[in-house]
Amino acid sequence: DPQLNPIYTFENFIEGDSNRVARRAGKTVAEKPGASSFNPLVIYGSVGLGKTHLAQSIGNDTKRLHPNKVVLYVSSEKFINQFQDHSRNNAINDFIHFYQLIDVLIIDDVQFFNRAEKSQDAFFAIFNHLHQSGKQLILTSDKPPKDLEGVQERLLSRFRWGLSADLQVPDYETRIEILERKMKNDGLEMPKEVVKYLAYNINSNVRELEGALISLLAQSSLNKREIDLDLAKRVLRNFVKTSSKEITIETIQKMVCEYFDVPYDKLLQKTRKREIVQARQITMYLAKAFTKNSLKTIGEHFGGRDHTTVIHSCQTVKDLMDTDSTFRESVMELQQKVQLAAM
Ligand code: ADP
Ligand code: MG
Repeated sequence: DPQLNPIYTFENFIEGDSNRVARRAGKTVAEKPGASSFNPLVIYGSVGLGKTHLAQSIGNDTKRLHPNKVVLYVSSEKFINQFQDHSRNNAINDFIHFYQLIDVLIIDDVQFFNRAEKSQDAFFAIFNHLHQSGKQLILTSDKPPKDLEGVQERLLSRFRWGLSADLQVPDYETRIEILERKMKNDGLEMPKEVVKYLAYNINSNVRELEGALISLLAQSSLNKREIDLDLAKRVLRNFVKTSSKEITIETIQKMVCEYFDVPYDKLLQKTRKREIVQARQITMYLAKAFTKNSLKTIGEHFGGRDHTTVIHSCQTVKDLMDTDSTFRESVMELQQKVQLAAM
């Protein structure tokens, strides 16, 4: 079936917190089409987050596991166009009959059913027939079913019969994995720091992440040069919100507060609570490492402490990093965050 593209597989759909429920439900549906409670399976999420990839993976895997089942993937636009063609030719019954013979029906982007009333009527008839016959329906949408304006309530209520699972923006680690998998598939290599730079800065959706990678590759071959951080920064100036910037003590303070969930004012006051003292010491340590400020200036940013306090804090952090591995990991992770923010 030309509508199913074999490049889309579960294998290369990287799992993360952002998509775990939807991906696992998709696998269940492919293993047992029509026989789980995930019927229909509705996958929703905004553009570029993997709805089509996941829906196609379900189709491909279902065909692999159940070669005798009829699997059809269709976009809602195509469904509507087909319906309208048949309608003009007085062949609506043929249209409905064709769809009623399918075992696993995947309709992508059902938000486009919006206002196509007659098509929705046909889809309603098809949905009911398939569902009653134990056939599987998989739908994708760019918003949760309850927010689908212009779609008949009787359809929306059926969408709620099964499972609705959302796709979110993958987190930083997952974005790194997605890039690395993509590069491996295409036989490409680039320095880890460039991968991290892309994953950190391109954080709206996966399609943009891939777009950034492609621009970078294109530029490197045009310039006949290796991909390095410098090239990445120049090529991605258009993609990236913040250009390379000087990191400030305030930025570091905010990052540490967020990381340890410590209120900003507590960090500056003279609180002696252990967690806060440690957060404060780490902040001073990072401020010394990542800014050009003097010890005196750093001290002043913490409610007017003097430079000997800063020296003492930095030494304490170094000592603790040698003896306490949990502590060291926290500091390293923060260091990485500050480094990335400074790029
Ligand atoms: P949508 O249909 O939601 O707009 P797509 O399915 O077209 O998004 O995904 C956009 C691109 O991102 C595709 O190239 C897809 O392969 C890729 N992609 C999305 N999520 C993942 C993921 N978790 N792992 C690997 N690639 C992904
Ligand atoms: Mg899509």
